[in-house]
Amino acid sequence: MTDVILEKVGKTYPNGYQAIPSVDLSIEEGEFIVLVGPSGCGKSTLLRMVAGLESISTGELRIRGERMNEKEPAERDIAMVFQNYALYPHMSVYDNMAYGLKNRGIAKNLIEEKVSDVAKMLGLTELLQRKPRQLSGGQRQRVAMGRAMVRDPKVFLFDEPLSNLDAKLRVQMRVEIRQLQRKLGTTTLYVTHDQVEAMTLADRLVVLNKGKAEQIGTPMDLYNKP
Ligand code: ADP
Ligand code: ADP
Repeated sequence: MTDVILEKVGKTYPNGYQAIPSVDLSIEEGEFIVLVGPSGCGKSTLLRMVAGLESISTGELRIRGERMNEKEPAERDIAMVFQNYALYPHMSVYDNMAYGLKNRGIAKNLIEEKVSDVAKMLGLTELLQRKPRQLSGGQRQRVAMGRAMVRDPKVFLFDEPLSNLDAKLRVQMRVEIRQLQRKLGTTTLYVTHDQVEAMTLADRLVVLNKGKAEQIGTPMDLYNKP
């Protein structure tokens, strides 16, 4: 089943700069798509349009058949993991993970159950009372991932989630992210400028260049292309 559809999606910023002329992309349910390309090619813009953090200038975005263009981020049933993790510094790990659920008025015992399940999956159980500053980079990354996972979103969006980690941890975390995503079966759109990361993670890659999808295909497809 097709889960996410971008139909001729384009972005022109208010200053008149056309960051994305027109992109077509269909993402299957459970698929892991990596957007790759050099800095400034429009990866972040495209991801932010799917997230609802940036308006769509032209074309249409549909998730499970429903038009999303005008919907607020909270109405899109997506969860985004940011490069800088965007954790609340004054809140514990538990509260960071529970925050989105509390806002939705979910019962306390259900929240506790969900956070505790996800914490277990991510190896965070012993760290739930700590503050973000008391965590390593890899642990912070896991909390950001946990905060996305507790919401059981239809779609995960990742914006260069590993770029603040050292090389060894980057490899470890990328394996973990892929394993978790497979297990949960959540449709994923993942942005990176790291080609090795892209090739390792992707079911299919979208190579962006100056706002255009130059190539779309499996890592093997693209690797074998001249
Ligand atoms: P990437 O994520 O691939 O590095 P971005 O999507 O951040 O690229 O940016 C794509 C292009 O759009 C860049 O040339 C950038 O300078 C430009 N851009 C990004 N945000 C804005 C904005 N708010 N206003 C005008 N131009 C922008
Ligand atoms: P990211 O890495 O998440 O794309 P950036 O550091 O590129 O974020 O940009 C930070 C903020 O500045 C974003 O809100 C982005 O939209 C805006 N921005 C980026 N490039 C430009 C630009 N050329 N002109 C105006 N605003 C920009």
